[in-house]
Amino acid sequence: MNVELSRRQFVIGAGAGAAGTALGAFGFGEVEQAYATTIRPFKLASLKEARNTCPYCSVSCGMILYSKENPQTKKMDLVHIEGDVDHPVNRGTLCPKGAAALDFVHSKTRVHYPMHRKPGGDKFERVSWDFALDRIAKLIKEDRDANFMEKNKDGATVNRLTTTGLLGGCAASNESGWLTYKFARSLGIVQLDNQARI
Ligand code: SF4
Repeated sequence: MNVELSRRQFVIGAGAGAAGTALGAFGFGEVEQAYATTIRPFKLASLKEARNTCPYCSVSCGMILYSKENPQTKKMDLVHIEGDVDHPVNRGTLCPKGAAALDFVHSKTRVHYPMHRKPGGDKFERVSWDFALDRIAKLIKEDRDANFMEKNKDGATVNRLTTTGLLGGCAASNESGWLTYKFARSLGIVQLDNQARI
């Protein structure tokens, strides 16, 4: 039977199995079983894992996010973050900033939803995603209608829009970076960056 293990699964399994198996090899089968029941399971074993990308810089290190259900709210709480050993960029490592990302997630000042400050207003207010997307689309269209340049002063076709810029997120994958590029260029946008280099 072929068993395929990721490097991560191997590390988790190896720690628990090594001590008990050694006893079994010497013929202490019952001792082995009794010993196995005393081994405390790894703290992370009961948590739910999700893969993600560090939100900070363009190195875009892979992370594993561990969460567990909060009995009061019945929602999942993020309780631990570590580097993903199977990720080709960082192979399990995180720099101090990425290693402290749990504080970023739980920060009181973190913005969880779109905010809008009305023209002439002095404070930001929570708005829906529909409102935010409609507003962004409307402003891009207005700007493009007013400033799209089909030809330059020498008459050469340029089809460019230099008054709107677009910045892609650091956790975007190669595929979403490609889509960001296609979207921006289809409007003629010249100023474009996609932070993630993955
Ligand atoms: S862990 Fe550090 S190096 Fe890696 S993406 Fe995050 S900030 Fe950049």
